[in-house]
Amino acid sequence: MTEQNSGGVQAQRMENTALENNCAAVLSVADTVRTTLGPKGLDKLLVDELGNRFITNDGATIMLSIKTVHPVAKMVVEIADRQEIRVGDGTTTAVVLAAEMIKEGKRLITDMGIHPTLIIRGMESGIQRSIELFRQMAVKIDMDDARLAHVIATAAGSRMDGNQVVSLVNEAVALLKRSEGKRDGINFKKSILLINKPELEDMVFDGIVLQKQLVDTQMPDNMKNAGALLLKMDVREIKESWIKEMKNYDDVVRMKDSHKKIIKEISDSIIASGAGVVFLASPHVDEFLFASLIARNILPISVSNEEISSLAYAFDLPIVKRREDMGRVSAGTMKNVSYDEEKGLLFLENNPQRKVVTIVVGGATRVTSQERWRSVKDGISSAQSALSDGVVAGGGAIELYISEKLKDKGMNSGVESLGVEVVAHALSGIMRQILINAGFSGFEKMTEIKKKSGEYGIDVNTGKSENMFDAGVIDSAGIKINALKSAAEIVKAVLRIDRILIASSPHNAVTGKSAGDAKHERTQ
Ligand code: ADP
Ligand code: MG
Repeated sequence: MTEQNSGGVQAQRMENTALENNCAAVLSVADTVRTTLGPKGLDKLLVDELGNRFITNDGATIMLSIKTVHPVAKMVVEIADRQEIRVGDGTTTAVVLAAEMIKEGKRLITDMGIHPTLIIRGMESGIQRSIELFRQMAVKIDMDDARLAHVIATAAGSRMDGNQVVSLVNEAVALLKRSEGKRDGINFKKSILLINKPELEDMVFDGIVLQKQLVDTQMPDNMKNAGALLLKMDVREIKESWIKEMKNYDDVVRMKDSHKKIIKEISDSIIASGAGVVFLASPHVDEFLFASLIARNILPISVSNEEISSLAYAFDLPIVKRREDMGRVSAGTMKNVSYDEEKGLLFLENNPQRKVVTIVVGGATRVTSQERWRSVKDGISSAQSALSDGVVAGGGAIELYISEKLKDKGMNSGVESLGVEVVAHALSGIMRQILINAGFSGFEKMTEIKKKSGEYGIDVNTGKSENMFDAGVIDSAGIKINALKSAAEIVKAVLRIDRILIASSPHNAVTGKSAGDAKHERTQ
């Protein structure tokens, strides 16, 4: 071997050390969540610094609570975060896919000496082809399709108290179906609101529930056909500091008078609109305005921007934003407004157009109630995604089918095919992991179904090879596609990294100034 060559080998080995370390970091994070995948996955008990305990089986929650310092491990946590924000379910799937791709990619780089860019190019075409196949296999469904309830059950039912929470989501969907308004283009994430209150009983309310502490109200228990007005404006109180800054007493009097006049105008317009209840989203709560409304038998309720948007959507009400428009609006109607002082909940019952319903998620303890809340959220997210992108066979069946398709001879050629195989390997890992978590031998069971149509998988509740659609194990195609995309983004980045450098300051890292002395290599 020439000197030059041995230098090359040395450099290659150094790069591989970084890759090995990064890979180990990814796998160690992934290993903490992979055992939760699927309905038989085990729960984790998280304990924070203050000793608070939470039981969870949720990939996203576990990942986001892991205290990791390794920069590459942090990237894996990002996958969970991104998947959670984009679609709201499928986080564990995304992390397992990423771990499997990284493991296989690393093997090709270190054992076979293939350059990362070649593998990445192959992976990209594998991902592309998989997404096309997911789309081809996806079956479109609408709100009346019985499979929608199965999607909800598959996503939400695998957790603690699964069946109870599944029925809550189904009940909410059933209510929305009874709407007299248009149902096309319904968005469950917007139409099903969630409240998590451990001390309450589970319930589905036909309308909006707001958590509010109303004080000093002489409001009747029930206001039928209440006139309602939505205001979003800065109704500002006079601040002491402004008064202090004023030079003379006349200015102060003038300002107070003008403020009183404005408030009087606003409250006169509210009266004229016929409102009995006013929802106000304002950065400042003006006690004077509130007192003047209460004195005139109108219930003022301070709400957030998010809450006012939900109210406008649910009751088809305009949001009045300018004082000039106040005189022109008339109040809309809410079928029934009632307040439960003990629970601190305000119930606003739907009109027949019924666009929003609320699920109140209770739970015996705070520890378990959050997990139940997450299950409901997963059910809603998957239902939404299923309506927009269609459904596929669950239990890893569709992934296994696509994995086999990717391996079909004739479709792949050259070194790039190795990258495609990385994707194929990862996709088959989903069913394997679900089966292992359920105590089955993944390998044995999977050979039983490999050659079947893409609808066949193993229902882990029965251990039998079944058509997943018949068994009711059905997933949203959109969640799967997103999981694969989120995983691939990170994997490509990790495989490309051959060193980790520590920048002396964020400024230098961004501008790249004095690269030589600003950075030093970190020995891992
Ligand atoms: P994620 O965080 O990825 O959503 P989950 O723990 O929720 O992970 O598991 C979801 C996976 O479990 C999906 O692939 C789904 O099809 C599968 N699954 C759900 N119920 C069953 C079942 N009865 N048999 C086999 N697989 C199931
Ligand atoms: Mg899930």
